[in-house]
Amino acid sequence: MQRRAPALGGPPGACDNTRLPGRAPVEDSCRLGVYCGKPLKHLLDQLGTGLPAFLREVGLPAYRARQVRHWLFAGRVSDFATMTDLPAALRESLATEFSLWTTEIAAHRQANDDTEKLLLQLADGNRIECVLIREGERRTCCVSTQVGCAMGCVFCASGLEGVVRNLSTGEILEQLLRLQQLLPQDERLSHIVVMGMGEPLANLDNLLPALEWATSPEGLGISGRRVTISTVGLPAALKRLATEKHPYHLAVSLHAPNDVLRSQLVPVNRSAGLADVVSAADEYFAANGRRLTFEYVLLGNLNDQPEHAKQLVGILRQRTAMVNLIPYNPVAGLPYQTPSGRAVDRFVEILQSAGVEVQVRVRKGDQIDAACGQLRRSLATTEPVTLS
Ligand code: SAH
Repeated sequence: MQRRAPALGGPPGACDNTRLPGRAPVEDSCRLGVYCGKPLKHLLDQLGTGLPAFLREVGLPAYRARQVRHWLFAGRVSDFATMTDLPAALRESLATEFSLWTTEIAAHRQANDDTEKLLLQLADGNRIECVLIREGERRTCCVSTQVGCAMGCVFCASGLEGVVRNLSTGEILEQLLRLQQLLPQDERLSHIVVMGMGEPLANLDNLLPALEWATSPEGLGISGRRVTISTVGLPAALKRLATEKHPYHLAVSLHAPNDVLRSQLVPVNRSAGLADVVSAADEYFAANGRRLTFEYVLLGNLNDQPEHAKQLVGILRQRTAMVNLIPYNPVAGLPYQTPSGRAVDRFVEILQSAGVEVQVRVRKGDQIDAACGQLRRSLATTEPVTLS
């Protein structure tokens, strides 16, 4: 069945035939090539079943889906017209059924250390952030999973206004593809850290299919072992991940070594305390055998004292785990302080002398508000720009 190519300049996210002059709305009539106004489906949400079903419906062979996916993930194309080994009629049909991009770039920042950050505006006007980090040969992308966050960590910019909604699988994948487009053709994304805005374990149903495509040889082909999911530690979701036996590396945001302090800094701790979180993390370790990382944001004079380090040793000494210490990255309007160099050194020394492996996270992209949620807040009202 022949479909009309979209008129140029149509609104994002809806059939561009709406722009054809003099057409009356006719429901679901794109197939006839007339005005309809029907919303386009996000192709990146339809890769598994929607795209193959569409091809069946228009009488085309299944291998066309593989070709489309190849253009998306390996070809890095920005529109259907450049998928040159597809018949022209199919390219036109795809463009009247699916949108390829649903985001616009509201801001693009580059730091001196080559870290790049995109503020993406979603079709509904909400904004999210994603980051490309270059370190030696590594090309790491940091992606968001929600608009905002419901966990309420008191020092974090992402959750200050609560959560708005989950991102779809396509919106998570689109961040990866947008970041991939920042790389020259001979460079590939090598690692994924799910450490952007949102709590990934609160949106597993959409995150896991996105990671499937990211790690599939028919997708971005990134090794599952190079994917890190950072979570505040929701025990039920951690258990689900353990049962499903994923290869992903798990980082659990602890931030305090006892329930009183953790409940103050990470309010979700009031419903599932430290013991539950750590024991669910143990289950994940038992299932996939990968050393756990525990993240610990160091807040000056709050959780960075020797007694905190000693309590942390008590939790971690017996575990196959390492601690990632993150000196607090100041968020405008929040009262917390970056720890002194001396406090960090002392903390590290106590952990190390007790045999706990520890790393202090090097801050990347400071000048571009690279910590989660910061750019979104500082640019709450700017106009989107079009990606060239
Ligand atoms: N919801 C997930 C992902 C959050 S972002 C989680 O809780 O793990 C990744 C890490 O950055 C988390 O450990 C988070 O607590 C930490 N973080 C958030 N804001 C920060 C800030 N201003 N300075 C330093 N680390 C921060």
